[in-house]
Amino acid sequence: MAKLELVIAGHKRSSDRLATSLYPSISDTEQSFQFESNEQTISVLDHAGVEGFTKRLTDRVAGLSTAILATDDNHGLDQLCLQHAFLLTLCGINELIIVVTGLKDTHKAEEAFSTIKSKSALLGWPKVTAVAIGSRGLEPPAWFDGPELTATLRHIQLADFPIDVPLRMPIRRTESDKSLYSGHILTGLIEMGDTLLFSPSNQTARVVALNAIDENESLNSAEAGREVTITLDSDLEFGNAELASHVDNPPLETDVFRARIAGFSSEVLNVDTGYSFYRFGHVIPVSIQSVERVTDDIGLDNIFDATIRASEIIALDPFEICKPTGSLILNDGENFIGAGQINMRGYADQRDLITVRSTNVVRVEHSVTDKHRAKRNGHRGGVLWLTGLSGAGKSTIAIEVEKRLFAAGYQAYVLDGDNVRHGLNSNLGFSPEDRAENIRRVGEVGALFAGAGFITITAFISPYRSDRERARTALPDGFHEVYVKADLEACEKRDPKGLYKKARAGEIPEFTGISAPYEVPKDPELTIDTSDSSVDECAQKLIEHIEHHFVLHDK
Ligand code: ADP
Repeated sequence: MAKLELVIAGHKRSSDRLATSLYPSISDTEQSFQFESNEQTISVLDHAGVEGFTKRLTDRVAGLSTAILATDDNHGLDQLCLQHAFLLTLCGINELIIVVTGLKDTHKAEEAFSTIKSKSALLGWPKVTAVAIGSRGLEPPAWFDGPELTATLRHIQLADFPIDVPLRMPIRRTESDKSLYSGHILTGLIEMGDTLLFSPSNQTARVVALNAIDENESLNSAEAGREVTITLDSDLEFGNAELASHVDNPPLETDVFRARIAGFSSEVLNVDTGYSFYRFGHVIPVSIQSVERVTDDIGLDNIFDATIRASEIIALDPFEICKPTGSLILNDGENFIGAGQINMRGYADQRDLITVRSTNVVRVEHSVTDKHRAKRNGHRGGVLWLTGLSGAGKSTIAIEVEKRLFAAGYQAYVLDGDNVRHGLNSNLGFSPEDRAENIRRVGEVGALFAGAGFITITAFISPYRSDRERARTALPDGFHEVYVKADLEACEKRDPKGLYKKARAGEIPEFTGISAPYEVPKDPELTIDTSDSSVDECAQKLIEHIEHHFVLHDK
């Protein structure tokens, strides 16, 4: 049976006042009290005050339904209260009781309370009750005619664990027995015999035994809110932070995502700085790739929209799909610096893009080797991956360089975006997933061309770092990223295909540089700035790079 739990957030002084009245006889460590009327036991998690609150919540993202936000007429709904309230929303709280303590019988106190009450109505929380408490015990001030605190608490209910939603359970390996996997089911339902998918490792296995964690009781099924141990029909190899789901409703897999973050201090989040993403007891190193401040109208003035990059693929959900796996808590190594809601606007689920190298397919060993080809051609095969904004000059340079290489007797070929979409990729559209798949295939084809000995020049905007890095993994040796650089203004002025004009008129949604991001290469092998050089000079620069890295000079 799940416990009825109540979180207390807000200001420590107010929560201490509540504590002495609500559960005076209970020790600090076991803050649990009982209501006589309907005999429900409520465990109180008193986390008021900044540090403790955030730390506790990093591991408590599901299963709480009601919270008290404690404040007084002095603090009102200040920044700290709003931050706590924001975190509580991340935890899926659906009922918030704002308790204002220490109110006098004066008109001034009554006015302060009514300001808090009307501000709380603007916040858009699902259910808010405001309760006024006087200076002695739980007695309300004389002017208050609202509900009493104890009466309000009597009606709180068990957290509503959603079971008709996708299964999500972060996995803990059991140290003593590696064949056992345990975890807290955050959402959904597990049944005996289910085939589970583990992400991000992308392995599946069937549940052959299901037990409640602290009891030996074996279960036929277990729903959200329960802690269970499962035995699987095969041994799986994976690291930390693995998430179990069903095969047909998995979380996303990605190394880049976006989040709306409430910052806990006045500092702006720093781009390219390392942070820790707290997730179900694990720490995932991340960095902020870009950030912009958002002004909102409820008084939280440190709201940011950030693009966040992890060093490896992680499994997550957009917040609106699943709150526990769609929440973000960030720490800078010392302090918690913000919390947010994950979204994937403009970014692709990379699950299907991770090339599974089938173990049943054995590569054919060519008797003609790379070396033979290089010797005959006078150069190695490779990929020159041209990336940059539309109109930056990728195609123009690629075509010019192909012409010159061909004239010099080299094997060279251009893979161009539009041409590939006419054939190989004609089944792909422009959704984030299709764009990423488009680039994945070009990366693979480029690697094949390179294997055939060709100097392959690709001309694709390829705005996302993850996609370009994946293309690099298709050809670890011989892949050169070339940043064709021109600022948006220059590209828009050139507008060779009239696309910017259309995008500005709103006719092309998600147009790179205007309504979708371009992620500038971090360490490209070559940068060609086309804004103040001629086509001839730019082509020459690429030719020189190719001659240096691909052409054999001791034929
Ligand atoms: P992309 O392939 O990057 O979308 P295009 O090659 O189709 O860009 O278009 C680039 C446009 O910019 C062409 O009209 C080209 O003539 C012009 N341009 C001007 N200066 C340069 C330069 N230095 N390098 C490449 N293109 C240039």
